[in-house]
Amino acid sequence: MIRGLQPRRRLGAVACTAGLLLLAIAAQSCHADEPYAPSRNYALQDIRTHLWFDVDRRTIRGEVTESVSALRNDVSQFALDSVDLKIESVQVDGKPARFSVDPKRLIVSLDRPANRGDRYQISIRYEGQPKKGLYFVLPDRNYPRQPSEIWTQGEAEDTRYYIPLYDYPNDRTTSEMILTVPSSWITVSNGRLVGVKDESDGMKTWDWKESEPISTYLISAIAGDFVEKDDTWHGLTLRYVVPRGDGPTIDPTFERTKQMLDLFSSKLGVPYPWAQYAQTSVDDFVEGGMENASATTLTVDNLVNPQLASEERIGTDDVNSHELAHQWFGDLVTCKDWANLWLNEGFATYFEHYWMEQHYSVDDADYEFWRDQNAWFRQPRFFPVPILNRHFDDSTEYEGNVYNKSAWVLRMLREKLGDDDFFRSLHDYLEANRGQNVVTADLQKAIEQTTSINVDQFFHQWIYRAGAPEFEVSYTYDPAMRQVDMNVRQTQDVAGLVELFDVPIQVEIATASGRKTYPIEVNQADQNFTFPADGAPLMVVFDRGDQIFKKVDFRKSTALWMYQLKNGETAPDRAEAAVALGGDRDDPQAVAALSDAALHDPFWGIRVEALRALGKTGGDDAASRVLAVFNSEKEPWVRAVAASVLGSFRGNSAAASRLEAAASNDPAYTVRAAAIESVAAVKAPNAYDIIAASVKADSPDNIVRRAGLRAFGFLGDDRSVSILLDWSAPGKPLRCRQAAIAAMAGLDKRDKAITDALVSYLQDSRFDVRLEAIFALGRRGDQDAVAPLENMLKSGRLTQGEEPYIEESLAVLKAQLAR
Ligand SMILES: [Zn+2]
Repeated sequence: MIRGLQPRRRLGAVACTAGLLLLAIAAQSCHADEPYAPSRNYALQDIRTHLWFDVDRRTIRGEVTESVSALRNDVSQFALDSVDLKIESVQVDGKPARFSVDPKRLIVSLDRPANRGDRYQISIRYEGQPKKGLYFVLPDRNYPRQPSEIWTQGEAEDTRYYIPLYDYPNDRTTSEMILTVPSSWITVSNGRLVGVKDESDGMKTWDWKESEPISTYLISAIAGDFVEKDDTWHGLTLRYVVPRGDGPTIDPTFERTKQMLDLFSSKLGVPYPWAQYAQTSVDDFVEGGMENASATTLTVDNLVNPQLASEERIGTDDVNSHELAHQWFGDLVTCKDWANLWLNEGFATYFEHYWMEQHYSVDDADYEFWRDQNAWFRQPRFFPVPILNRHFDDSTEYEGNVYNKSAWVLRMLREKLGDDDFFRSLHDYLEANRGQNVVTADLQKAIEQTTSINVDQFFHQWIYRAGAPEFEVSYTYDPAMRQVDMNVRQTQDVAGLVELFDVPIQVEIATASGRKTYPIEVNQADQNFTFPADGAPLMVVFDRGDQIFKKVDFRKSTALWMYQLKNGETAPDRAEAAVALGGDRDDPQAVAALSDAALHDPFWGIRVEALRALGKTGGDDAASRVLAVFNSEKEPWVRAVAASVLGSFRGNSAAASRLEAAASNDPAYTVRAAAIESVAAVKAPNAYDIIAASVKADSPDNIVRRAGLRAFGFLGDDRSVSILLDWSAPGKPLRCRQAAIAAMAGLDKRDKAITDALVSYLQDSRFDVRLEAIFALGRRGDQDAVAPLENMLKSGRLTQGEEPYIEESLAVLKAQLAR
């Protein structure tokens, strides 16, 4: 899956708020994701579930029939996972059976002990008001036009909240989902739609059948007031499903699904394994996306508005390619336990980049990897923990390792094996394990059997051990010997599960007569290397193209960095140079070089990095150069960054007046939004009036209004309090409410009306609103918020995993009190 709470990576989107920073450090969680798979005494072989819904009471009624087979002798009972479900009756093979329930299980007793291989049919009738697993999003007094939606989210262990069943990934079952719903609704579930039948009472019954065995966290049921557009791809039914009213977003959001299917299935050599591919966007989704087998669920926040599509570099391709890749990695072949989750998430994340490489450019993919690497090193808690880790409370606790570092490891594996052997290995791994549950050793074995290349050391250091190399590199040129003497030291803290690394590195050296690349192997704490050089080097690059996951401290002269920025052949090498030339150096030459890159580099990512570096450099010269880029750049996603960077030049009147103009009338909405926030950041002379006008302006997805609301938070002008209170209120569009609530955190600390409003939103019916209020109360620092937050924690009514965020905000508030 992709977490809904991750800051969006989409370029042109505006910078993250403090709320998201809180999220990044919220480590604890309520998920009961067990790191070891349980032992089993039965196997679930088929499950047929029929669900009815009472939307007024937000309850379900279910009838489920499960075919199971005993895996051991002398089994006298079967324990099913079941939370908060009221079990009305249980039958085994058509006869009433004894059963008991405890808070987490339904235990079905057998008349006489079973022997290995004995088969049973267990039928259960039950009712429930699910706290998790199955969610209702319904119209109410404030949102009468909200489409009715019911959707599920099984991962990690939440299917048991709406179906009593064996619910851990180390088993697989075929399944059937039968949904009886109002006749105007449509439904989506796994597999093939085998029938839709009219009932007598204005209802319809939909019957979906998944005939390939899947782990139960991949079961999905969606029903509601949706619109659907169908297509076909080589005979496969594709469904694009969105809430009623969002129809115009279908084409810009999903138009590349077929190309992704083409790419992944041809490159893997394994045909798409399911009977359909549905992509359904739902309101209030608790994740960003979830790869339910053959039926991905997505958040509506990622739908691409047709009026904004041309302003975004990749639209929502990252999430769509991620969830599609999971259909092979995660669904066809599924991790056996959550400790091996990287076998799902590492591949899905890798294939996001692979899609980017193939559809956009190698530069796009390399740049994204480079950014992911830098982000990982900014989170020290990931460092001492290996990718394969069994010490966690929640399998996504170390998601920086399980997602991004794992994708990086696969990138390095591709480099190590070469393209042909890499993709042949993946093909063989998928074929050998199709329809099964896997551990890391299964991947290692497939690679060795396919390629005869031993990957034990590679897996040891990158998967079973923690950390990454941190290099300190320096060199001197010896004109007499005509050689470069390079010293390389590994400076990471070698302790616990972090060892010295053994990695291949490409060193590129350019002199006046040309450039050459030399392979070296770095495997010691301190090593010296010499390279021939027929003159003083103009450029020395350690790890050309950023092929190894690492951090480097390489002190080089400004002249060398400037040469690298202009002449580096790969995007990461030039990006690295841009970063090095930024910062607080007051060097007009560096500013000129950055300005040249920001104006002329052929790759947009380098123009972005050069702009950011100019922003860090500061000064009027840098400001005027950023302005020049802002005025001449064509790509909206680069201009939006330029507008954001202009926000760092406070006191520069040319920047302020250009931002004021752009905030009022830039033709690109995303640029206008960035300019509005920057108008607040530089405290431009007319900031308040411009921002107030932007809050009144209509725009696609309210993008301009939301920027205005956020900008009020940065401006800190208490005249905006009543506007923010107004836009945060129930009835306003949800994302406007979120923006207003976040902004309210920063305003008049003594104003109890703000605290009272935020406290009232802790009870809001919408998860996103509750979460935003939790963050805002933490940041606001009013101690009056402590009791309401503690009451919320104690209420026992939390449904969607708010606990860690409440605890985080309480910790912030209590730390303030202690000071
Ligand atoms: Zn995922």
